[in-house]
Amino acid sequence: VPRRMPRSNFVPPVRSNGGMSGVVGAMTRNSGGTDNSSDESLKRCLELLAGPDGELPDKLRNLEPRLLEHVSNEIMEQDSNVRWDDIAGLDHAKKSVTEMVIWPLLRPDIFQGCRAPGKGLLLFGPPGTGKTMIGKAIAGEAQATFFSISASSLTSKWIGEGEKLVRALFGVAGCRQPAVIFIDEIDSLLSQRKAEGEHESSRRLKTQFLIEMEGVGSGNEQLLLIGATNRPQELDEAARRRFSKRLYIPLPSTEARAWIVRSLLEKDGLLSLSDKDVDIICASTEGYSGSDMKNLVKEASMGPLREALVQCQDISKISKEEMRSITLQDFKTALQQVRPSVSQSELGSYEDWNHQFGSLL
Ligand code: ADP
Repeated sequence: VPRRMPRSNFVPPVRSNGGMSGVVGAMTRNSGGTDNSSDESLKRCLELLAGPDGELPDKLRNLEPRLLEHVSNEIMEQDSNVRWDDIAGLDHAKKSVTEMVIWPLLRPDIFQGCRAPGKGLLLFGPPGTGKTMIGKAIAGEAQATFFSISASSLTSKWIGEGEKLVRALFGVAGCRQPAVIFIDEIDSLLSQRKAEGEHESSRRLKTQFLIEMEGVGSGNEQLLLIGATNRPQELDEAARRRFSKRLYIPLPSTEARAWIVRSLLEKDGLLSLSDKDVDIICASTEGYSGSDMKNLVKEASMGPLREALVQCQDISKISKEEMRSITLQDFKTALQQVRPSVSQSELGSYEDWNHQFGSLL
């Protein structure tokens, strides 16, 4: 089943003789592949990108079909199922992101002139604090197509081709508006450090990226670029300037940690802790990130299973119903295994950077 925009009624025209007309047909025929299944996939993807006339939009015509296919299949997500309610805490960030980027994506007609939204949004802070979740939630809340790629894959996996892939990415996103482009590890793309003998190709990649960024939001486009980084200090002045909003996404508060523990256990029908137990767990997890908390719950949830295995020895004979529930003691044991991943000194450097360059909420 071809992927489609949730609200799109567009049905790609497919001829009964199985051949595509115009540019799409020609591109598929010229793709050079002999493998039928990959030909099919390429054809489907080009059909999806084609306009109602069956032709590719102008700005996609000069791009390599296989790169368009990669963007459509690997980078584009049709239905982002993350919502604000799935993200613990971060109320300040949710509120300003709603005003700054979701409303403009939903009502571009109102957000013009002096209400015109800023160009890019930078989310910075320690790893595992929900930056990617926020990107997905923005796409979900604004009913936008979500494009997500890690900048390090552009520089490592796509050596020498990153520049072309960036063009394909922004080209396809332009045809799937409203769209959110989320670039993780943006620092590795826009780093201020000139690596010794910086390769010509990585310089070209950076230049191309900055050009594309410059184009985002210049017209009436409903495109939002979000960069995420754990290393904001690496961004140079030019890169900082291009992200007009820079939001600090800090470690979860005590309440947010409690929420994460409860909601993860509840989702699996495993919540048997009292409020007091949860309070004790949260008091012992100062400095843990959201993803550390997730790992902690995972580890604690293994407690009852490990105990059952001591008696029964055979995993195939264990009855799920008879397994005891997860206790505070399981969490205490897990706390010895799962340690916080962010150090106090790292936290200080995020706060400094926020103080110097962060946007006021
Ligand atoms: P980041 O992009 O900041 O490195 P992610 O958004 O990928 O972090 O979060 C990693 C995982 O940690 C998420 O999938 C989620 O399970 C958990 N997590 C992190 N922060 C939160 C949060 N604020 N609320 C709920 N879950 C969170």
